[in-house]
Amino acid sequence: GIEIRDLHLSFGSTNVLTGVNLTIEPGEFFAFLGPSGSGKSTLLRSIAGFGPRPQGEIRIGGRPVADLPPWKRDVGMVFQSYALWPHMSVRENVAFGLRERKVASAEIRRRVDEALELVGLAHLADRMPNQLSGGQQQRIALARTVVIAPKVLLLDEPLSNLDASLRVQMRRELLALQRKLGLTTIFVTHDQEEANTTADRMAVLDGGVIQQVGTPQQLYDTPVNLFVAQFLGTAN
Ligand code: ATP
Ligand code: MG
Repeated sequence: GIEIRDLHLSFGSTNVLTGVNLTIEPGEFFAFLGPSGSGKSTLLRSIAGFGPRPQGEIRIGGRPVADLPPWKRDVGMVFQSYALWPHMSVRENVAFGLRERKVASAEIRRRVDEALELVGLAHLADRMPNQLSGGQQQRIALARTVVIAPKVLLLDEPLSNLDASLRVQMRRELLALQRKLGLTTIFVTHDQEEANTTADRMAVLDGGVIQQVGTPQQLYDTPVNLFVAQFLGTAN
């Protein structure tokens, strides 16, 4: 699991995260919700070890990660802006992380095929990124991350460029994969329905502060304040 204790982060004089405390259980599918600018991506990047170092403590699997570089945290992240390597084919983009980790080439081939299968794009393996639609690129970015089989999967709006039906299908497949591998997953989304239908629990952020944490049901039934009620659309 992931433990976050009293996390603070500011850019200059702007506090972006203030007193964040959160425990995410091993194997949990957890969603971050909140308006634009509320600190969702910053919190996710902090867990992954990217960006400025926050005050406070983050533990993954019981170990403080402050001194671990991102690639040693056993965390895979799909960024909100998910640029693929433009000069590499789809297959090479997905294989990149495995090559870096010195995985044998036969295994790379097998795992890349599996990951491309998962996102439904095995037939585009030899295309270049500029020959793909935005939604296809997004699915390749997802394949590129799950292929390394991280223990913790951090997803920053990974389905935002997909049309409604593909989004539902990918969401279902992602959830199945997550359950199968027992991945601890944090998923950022603007889409409340997406959070409701996938998340074991969720946190609603506003102004860099966690307003409430609970199951979707708990948040809808008993929002702790007006902000949460209005954000989830339960206030009349
Ligand atoms: P969105 O839903 O639009 O993606 P978010 O909740 O992910 O929003 P963040 O990207 O975490 O929000 O940004 C939180 C706040 O931190 C914003 O006010 C943003 O302007 C500010 N911020 C983020 N990165 C920087 C930076 N490098 N320098 C200064 N301010 C930053
Ligand atoms: Mg963001």
